[in-house]
Amino acid sequence: MRITVLGKSPSWQDANGACSGYLIEEDDVCLLLDCGNGVFSKLRRYRDYVAVDAVVISHLHADHFLDLIPFAYALTYAPRQQPVPVARWPGTDAPARPKLYAPSGARDTFRRVVGAWGNEDLIEKAFDLCEYGVDDVLEVGDLRIRFHEVPHFLPTCAVDVTSLNGGGRFTYGADSAPTEELVRFADGTDLLMVEATLPRPEREGPRGHLTPAEAGDHGCRARVGRLVITHISDELDQLWARSQAEGAFGGPVSIAQEGAVYQV
Ligand SMILES: [Zn+2]
Ligand SMILES: [Zn+2]
Repeated sequence: MRITVLGKSPSWQDANGACSGYLIEEDDVCLLLDCGNGVFSKLRRYRDYVAVDAVVISHLHADHFLDLIPFAYALTYAPRQQPVPVARWPGTDAPARPKLYAPSGARDTFRRVVGAWGNEDLIEKAFDLCEYGVDDVLEVGDLRIRFHEVPHFLPTCAVDVTSLNGGGRFTYGADSAPTEELVRFADGTDLLMVEATLPRPEREGPRGHLTPAEAGDHGCRARVGRLVITHISDELDQLWARSQAEGAFGGPVSIAQEGAVYQV
């Protein structure tokens, strides 16, 4: 299994960056995990968007789903998706319509967002939308996908992708407050991609994110093979963040960078 970082910014984009998006490929199977703002353009560098088999959304914050909108426009209006021949495109009777797995309530949220300019069904027509439950287990080709709820400001799932071909296991913590749930869910995974958003814990209100040291501590307790921290702004000191995470993890930690490829 190969994981390519398409975007790793938190809710505002790095210079030239994109918010959350990870391309997961094994053989011919291709999965896009989260599709935050900026991700569609990055995706196009690595993979033809009509060849994406499925998109999985961890939660319904803008920085994790907003680029479903340009993706849906491409699937709807791109010349090669049309039934009639135009210019160099021969026309097709079978336009691409990738699966879209999103949390409960996603259909409503998408309708409200694109409905703001009168396109209520844009996303559900472009994609084969399926709202998943926390206990669902999905299979996309030889990739098995499991979910586990983690504490955040709205319902959010960590996502585990396991190859059924012996191709390794990848776990994504999504956005999360410190939680034993993620430690248990990620236990023994080959690679944990965990958020490290905060320069210090939230000063007030409920917690919703991790510091780099907390991210490292989660990776250590989950006994993961490799730890990558993500959802971290280019405005935070990367050397500081990595040393904080490594101190708690007890080993080397990478910071997700756009275009980085991990093999598990
Ligand atoms: Zn986020
Ligand atoms: Zn979030």
